[in-house]
Amino acid sequence: MRTLPLHSGEKLHLKGFPRAALEHLLQQWGQPRYRAVQLMEWLYAKGVEDFTAMTTLPQELRRHLATECTLQTVHAERWEKSQRDGTVKFLFRLPDGAAIESVLIPAEDSEGRLRRLTLCVSTQVGCPLSCVFCATASLRLRRNLNAAEIVDQLLQVQRLTGLRVTNLVFMGMGEPLLNLEAVLQAVHIWTDPHSGLLSPRRITLSTAGLVPEIYRLAEDTARIRLAISLHTTDQALRERLMPIARRYPLQELQKAARYYVERTKRPITYEYILFDHLNDSPTDADALARFVRVTPRAKVNLIPFHPIEFVHPTGIAATLRPSPPERIHAFRERLRSHGIPVMLRSSSGIDIKAACGQLALSGERTVTYSGP
Ligand code: SAH
Repeated sequence: MRTLPLHSGEKLHLKGFPRAALEHLLQQWGQPRYRAVQLMEWLYAKGVEDFTAMTTLPQELRRHLATECTLQTVHAERWEKSQRDGTVKFLFRLPDGAAIESVLIPAEDSEGRLRRLTLCVSTQVGCPLSCVFCATASLRLRRNLNAAEIVDQLLQVQRLTGLRVTNLVFMGMGEPLLNLEAVLQAVHIWTDPHSGLLSPRRITLSTAGLVPEIYRLAEDTARIRLAISLHTTDQALRERLMPIARRYPLQELQKAARYYVERTKRPITYEYILFDHLNDSPTDADALARFVRVTPRAKVNLIPFHPIEFVHPTGIAATLRPSPPERIHAFRERLRSHGIPVMLRSSSGIDIKAACGQLALSGERTVTYSGP
């Protein structure tokens, strides 16, 4: 898989270096280890983008950093705010000219105060998985993001808005478990005590269900939350909706999910898009409850289907319709009657094509289906 190396061109992309890598780099330059901590505090806790302003570092080191390293990783070219719910979608230009989107989703309490500010980040330029209901699939995969490009989405959003992101979800463009190494580096940078940006409990990674990578993620020390895009408990239907399901059957996915919870002690969430008369009957709800119950403390996140533009004219994609509100309600109540904790995800940012499954660089180019 092609990635822009952190050492691309003549400069190092410093925002992709976790603490141990920074310490190593600085030691190679003859600096004491604690300089790494100081540097992280400037970069992440204080959000300073200019080496000359890092006044606790010796002048000579600041000059050396400016010559050898760059902090210009992702550049916000455009952003758009939803008139409906305040969601903001950012279009970021990357050093090689590729583009990605990130989405900032505010949640308010009953008195209108900001309760939570969730950033949804991308991990790949495009996506190779070809889920038939998702607009990002139309872009195909161009490349993986490197750790600096992932880390910087958060920093640039905070800088541009002046707000502090409280929660982070890997639910933007791409399949995060196909870029696990860079994703984990980013997680370790954000959650380092000297960055002070996020706690691992406030980070959720969503996957289409890559079984070996779920086991690998479970072994990492970061202990982030996991969400699995399930969408049906019927293996044959899942294969038609998500081609990756052919490689990783439901039973194996269920086993991996269970292992993740046991190993990390973090509860997992199953995501379930509701398609009208396809997976939203009372029998489907009963089957989902049986499936979910196997994983201790698992929750269900129901997602309204957001119709997309590029749909392939033949096959199942053309038949997909959103469940109407009354079927969504009935499905949720049926799950509740089985004692399953269930939430309905809001369609934040739907008017600016920022809701789940809608990220396809709209406006950047016309989206046409190029798949098989
Ligand atoms: N590749 C990861 C990350 C994407 S997360 C994954 O598959 O989980 C985005 C969530 O939105 C996933 O649960 C995905 O299945 C869902 N989604 C995709 N297209 C959608 C659409 N058109 N409407 C509603 N949800 C969609």
